[in-house]
Amino acid sequence: MIPYGRQEVTQTDIDAVVAVLKSVNLTQGPAIEQFEQSVIRHTGAMYAFAVSNATAALHIACLAMELGPGDWLWTAPNTFVASANCALYCGANVDFVDIDPHTYNLCPEKLEAKLILAQKANRLPKIVVPVHLTGQPCDMVAIHALGQKYGFKIIEDASHAIGAQYKGEPIGHGCYSDITVFSFHPVKIITTGEGGMALTNDTKLATRLGLLRSHGITRDPALMTRPMDGPWYYEQVALGYNYRMTDIQAALGTSQMTRLTAYIQRRHDIAKRYKELLADLPLTLPAQNPDSYSAFHLYVIRLQLQRMTRSHREVFEALRAKNIMVNLHYIPVHTQPYYQKMGFKLGDFPEAEQYYREAISIPMHVNLTDAEQSFVVDALREAICS
Ligand SMILES: *Cc1c(COP(=O)(O)O)cnc(C)c1O
Repeated sequence: MIPYGRQEVTQTDIDAVVAVLKSVNLTQGPAIEQFEQSVIRHTGAMYAFAVSNATAALHIACLAMELGPGDWLWTAPNTFVASANCALYCGANVDFVDIDPHTYNLCPEKLEAKLILAQKANRLPKIVVPVHLTGQPCDMVAIHALGQKYGFKIIEDASHAIGAQYKGEPIGHGCYSDITVFSFHPVKIITTGEGGMALTNDTKLATRLGLLRSHGITRDPALMTRPMDGPWYYEQVALGYNYRMTDIQAALGTSQMTRLTAYIQRRHDIAKRYKELLADLPLTLPAQNPDSYSAFHLYVIRLQLQRMTRSHREVFEALRAKNIMVNLHYIPVHTQPYYQKMGFKLGDFPEAEQYYREAISIPMHVNLTDAEQSFVVDALREAICS
């Protein structure tokens, strides 16, 4: 079986986790801050908050920006449902901006056109969530400029993109957004089992994120409304959640972070080899922006169906039949039954829908061997050409 993605856990990782298990703190101990600091060192962000998963990070990011009933959040349709659901958790509304057909990321021109209409209708979004799909950064300069002009805040859903760079800066440094979110689910670039992180350079947002992650409770006298009754005293000053990560997970994350740069390099090597081996097939291979360095979380091929007799589904099933666990990222969110009930219709976002009819994520992970990769390429060739 060759999965489309898989984590690597080394003996060093295991030793780091065991050390925490033998220590005093399984949660809320020093390992969390060590993990946050390692991500801060890598990204250059000012603040980082480790949480239970990226969905939780997206939720508290929206709450920190005071997204609520009557507000709008916009994101791309070809993403994991969590990028949109975070708005619904807050009682806000969701809408989508179609993708650029070459990068598969939220299209800034379509965003601008939609903003012009929304301004006339007095329905501008409060938050826009660009998703760095497959690890390739969105056109953040253009999206940030529109944010300045139309007054929305930006949450980068960088679940695929830790280790990526945009204009020479690591994703997460936050020059072009208010909050960046990473996921550490096992299929992502590095893992903590389950886990996520929210990063920001804004002191006020950081205070909110810190509160919301842990019940809205503070022990910091500067955030309290009353004098402390005594050393036991704490205050709940907001409605937060228990979205904390454990120290067990954080120790795994810190250990994995030491391999981040090597991981991205390895993913680029695999991508380069796919590009060579697949060049003659009727496929659209991932386009790379010259000003960015993808994390290559996924390697997505698009079938040029007009140049082949086999259907998308036939090619997909032929690969699965050979135990190549290809996948499809993603079913457009607006076509999900839950979203259709909200009024979205097939045809609303044609580029994302076209992408869905052609895309296949083929295996891409750091321990994919050259032999496995060749097997995938041969199987793909056979599936398309036979
Ligand atoms: C994985 C993923 C998420 C959710 O991450 P979890 O850590 O599983 O909550 C959100 N957005 C995108 C784009 C993802 O790929």
